[in-house]
Amino acid sequence: MPLIINLMRPLARNLAIGFALISALYLFAAPVDAEEVNVYSYRKPHLIKPMFDAFSAETGIKVNAVFAKKGMLERIRIEGINSPVDVVLTVDIGRLSDVKNAGLTQPVHSSKILQNIPADVRDPENHWFGLTARARILVTAKDRVAPGLITRYEDLAEPILKGRVCMRSGKHPYNIALVASMIQKHGHAAAQKWLEGLKANLARTPQGNDRSQVKAIAEGVCDVAIINHYYMYQMTQNHEQKAWVDTVDSVFPNQNDRGTHINISGMTLAKYAPHRANATRLMVFLASVRAQKMYAEVNGEYPVSEAVETSAYLKSLGTFKRDTVALAKVAAKRTLASKLVDRVDFNN
Ligand code: FE
Repeated sequence: MPLIINLMRPLARNLAIGFALISALYLFAAPVDAEEVNVYSYRKPHLIKPMFDAFSAETGIKVNAVFAKKGMLERIRIEGINSPVDVVLTVDIGRLSDVKNAGLTQPVHSSKILQNIPADVRDPENHWFGLTARARILVTAKDRVAPGLITRYEDLAEPILKGRVCMRSGKHPYNIALVASMIQKHGHAAAQKWLEGLKANLARTPQGNDRSQVKAIAEGVCDVAIINHYYMYQMTQNHEQKAWVDTVDSVFPNQNDRGTHINISGMTLAKYAPHRANATRLMVFLASVRAQKMYAEVNGEYPVSEAVETSAYLKSLGTFKRDTVALAKVAAKRTLASKLVDRVDFNN
């Protein structure tokens, strides 16, 4: 009983959760006969609202959304069977699998969803489904790295890159997923060797976010970095950052073998969803070609379905082959990946 466990926890924690519960009840106070669906979202409102509006216009079902940066899983756990949440939207394979592993989701068996979401980007037991994909790409200094010199993640450990690589924290979920994919592909020992080689090539201790790695290349601190592809798009929208982008080439790694590592944003159906039928309708809508296109375009991401047309910007980056290893398998290696990052003392 999560609620009883909660009662035994420190007072400050209970107070904080109490406020969360009150705000949830307040937000979801609506006539009992209203057609509605409740969403908890880690994704920012501007990324989500256009789709919710389109869904409401099509179905007459109102979408009540609560946005949070962190603490969502704990909140759902504490709310227990009284939780108002129907659908959870979040980024990262780690967060999606964490919600499932906490026992807070239920499967959705809908052929309409399955036909639009490829098998590699959904849970084999249908608890979570990817909606958009982000490629973890390499960026290289235009004036210091010859095209074709770096083509694989494995190359990042090559001695030719000694002192030339920049990266954010190895513990960030984006990098944990990448390391997990290396463990999945090459096994633990080989992945450790690779990570040690990569650490030996770093120009500075891991720091900053993905954008600041591109800045570091522009400033000559390093020649190669790893970032999510959509930052290339987002940075072109900012005058100062566009100048950084102009100094780099982007490379989709591993095009001649397994393909580029991707991560996803996705959705799950809450275990105690009070509006299960409406929630399923929303999930079918979000998986649709129309919604995938809207969702992907607003953040410069890829739709997970190849049947969905990509944006003009993504077309300009060129097509790429993604690693189609089941992300559920990659997610299962996350704990090992996190320990490996610690073992090689990657961040220090
Ligand atoms: Fe991001």
